Amino acid sequence: CEASFGSQEISLRRDDFQSHGLPEMVVGVLGGGQLGRMMCQAASQMAIKVIVLDPLEGCPASAVAHEHVIGSFTDNDAIEEFAKRCDVLTVEIEHVDADTLEKLEKRGVDCEPKASTIRIIQDKYLQKVHFARHGIPLPEFTQIDDLESAKRAGELFGYPLMIKSKRLAYDGRGNSVAKSPEELSSAVSALGGYDRGLYVEKYAPFIKELAVIVARGRDSSILCYPVVETIHKENICHIVKAPAYVSWKVRSLATDVACKAISSLEGAGVFAVELFLTGDGQILLNEVAPRPHNSGHHTIESCFTSQFEQHLRAVVGLPLGDPSMKTPAAIMYNLLGEDEGEDGFQLAHKLIGRALRIPGASVHWYDKPEMRKQRKMGHVTLVGPSMGILEARLNTLLSDESLDFH
Ligand code: ATP
Ligand code: MG
Ligand code: MG
Repeated sequence: CEASFGSQEISLRRDDFQSHGLPEMVVGVLGGGQLGRMMCQAASQMAIKVIVLDPLEGCPASAVAHEHVIGSFTDNDAIEEFAKRCDVLTVEIEHVDADTLEKLEKRGVDCEPKASTIRIIQDKYLQKVHFARHGIPLPEFTQIDDLESAKRAGELFGYPLMIKSKRLAYDGRGNSVAKSPEELSSAVSALGGYDRGLYVEKYAPFIKELAVIVARGRDSSILCYPVVETIHKENICHIVKAPAYVSWKVRSLATDVACKAISSLEGAGVFAVELFLTGDGQILLNEVAPRPHNSGHHTIESCFTSQFEQHLRAVVGLPLGDPSMKTPAAIMYNLLGEDEGEDGFQLAHKLIGRALRIPGASVHWYDKPEMRKQRKMGHVTLVGPSMGILEARLNTLLSDESLDFH
């Protein structure tokens, strides 16, 4: 896993390169949210052309992409048309039409990561089956089709029981907890019923949530970013601390599990591996994202190669960059929508105003046209000499008195 850095060869022919030595390739990204936006920002630094496919006019990536094509990443025709203009296709969201990607691959279109990877990841149940087969430690899980099977699962795994929707989940929308057998029906209804396609997981008694970003090049070389701690608020990633404050043994186990999980998937790019650390030092895999991830936003300021640059390097076939940290510590704080509409914007602007006064703080605002409660609107990254100092600075950012801080 700690693959040697810098030993890879560029495998492209000389005439594939532009005058500055970087490949003349158009990277097509399915999805134009904040991840697409930050990918475009990294691309512009290296003059790599990124075009994005997203149905929303004014989507976060539209202002920074080489071009924004308006269309749906779940629509066969839109993807096929889009693909004609790209040398390589990649994703910033896993909920894309995997059938179309598979079809395109058969016709020789280059998709990174591969359609098979997207297909496995976008169905969380299939994902769990896949990783279990590859010997990755996971919370126990089983499919449920009706109240009977849900009750049986409850007896087997105990309560609280985590009920999850197989598809289209993000930010915890798709998760529901039943604290007792009596709560099963309402927890299932909250997810839209059994027809939605549900499964259950044994509740993981974690003491910390960790995450590892793993990068894989087209030559299958693998590099891992430092293990981070993710802190969730109501199922949504809220704070990320890098590096995670855990023992060397836990760091190494988390990195090994993450590498092993990603080695079982096909294609190039960065992947995020979300993990649970239990009280007895076990590492269990929660889920994998086949793309840059919220737990890797800190890398923009804190690592030699950001996850976004790394993803581009990987998909176009450049050597992977150094994933190690260039600052001793980093904290990422998500700016989540506090309120609908104008009030929400005012609260966010107040926080940004404070962040701008804090040493080592960088503000990212995704420019989403609408504010919604709990929506990821932006983030602030703090870098500095120690985690203790950064925690104090985060407290300053979040305390009301800090408005007077100069
Ligand atoms: P995202 O894709 O935004 O990370 P998601 O909607 O796919 O989120 P999950 O990652 O499955 O949702 O779960 C969200 C959070 O819920 C986890 O980060 C964790 O805090 C909690 N959680 C999920 N599964 C379990 C489990 N089996 N036991 C205990 N807590 C869990
Ligand atoms: Mg998820
Ligand atoms: Mg998750």
